[in-house]
Amino acid sequence: MNTTVTSRTLQRVIAGLATSDGAGVKLRRSLGQGQGARLDPFLMLDEFSSDNPGDYIAGFPAHPHRGFETVTYMLDGHMRHEDHLGNVGELKSGGVQWMTAGRGIIHSEMPQQEEGRMRGFQLWINLPAREKMKAAHYRDIPPNEIPLTSLPGGGEVKVIAGTLHLDGRDVRGPIQGLSTDPLYLDVALPAGGDFSQPVESTHNAFIYVYEGDVQVGDASPRPLKSQSAGFLSPGDRIDVKAGAAGARFLVLAGRPLREPVVQYGPFVMNTSEEIEQAIMDYQSGRFTQAAT
Ligand code: MN
Repeated sequence: MNTTVTSRTLQRVIAGLATSDGAGVKLRRSLGQGQGARLDPFLMLDEFSSDNPGDYIAGFPAHPHRGFETVTYMLDGHMRHEDHLGNVGELKSGGVQWMTAGRGIIHSEMPQQEEGRMRGFQLWINLPAREKMKAAHYRDIPPNEIPLTSLPGGGEVKVIAGTLHLDGRDVRGPIQGLSTDPLYLDVALPAGGDFSQPVESTHNAFIYVYEGDVQVGDASPRPLKSQSAGFLSPGDRIDVKAGAAGARFLVLAGRPLREPVVQYGPFVMNTSEEIEQAIMDYQSGRFTQAAT
């Protein structure tokens, strides 16, 4: 029996690039800058963070998605989601919206504030081929459904998806049982604080630092700065140490799909024929209808 535990090392850094999306919302994109900047099953990660309403007020008016899931996590602020299924979700500080686009959803994501800070993340997670055309599904996860756990050595962790393993106990997040088996943690560490977490060795994993800086790995740690995504090597444990100012970061891990990815804007399918079909369906108003 092999009992050696391998700490994942930092293999590649993708610095967040300033860009804009929707009707002109300023954001910082790390994953998804280009086709090579993905980590199966994760397609894209945007961070939006501004105290200036001009950076966010235009929001994301009605637009489609097909073939994957969008996960919006608000740190500060208030956005309203509305979709063609009639769902209305008030996304507020500390809340998460987990939207499975499946065969098609048309939704808007609009700020419900005219001043103050808007801050959070949108993550895109791919769906396996067999699930790309399933019915759309939307779930609001209010802050009180997201467990907040103190770490023994200082700091705290929110468990959005998957399960946090601490000595002697497991903390289960509200999202479980998806094909990609995502782990989504939001970790806050004090200066010099440590975070160590077993992860499935079969899963791809990355860290996104959004405050402070960290060192990744236990034997010969490497630095990762704020507003950067760090892709991790294979291994069965993640070890992170916060720098002198402490750190806040996201930990993402998921089961890779190992399927072809063809993306055209908000459509992510396996072949270009499926993309052409998505465009035709959208243009002809059949986008969200069940296949007949
Ligand atoms: Mn959207």
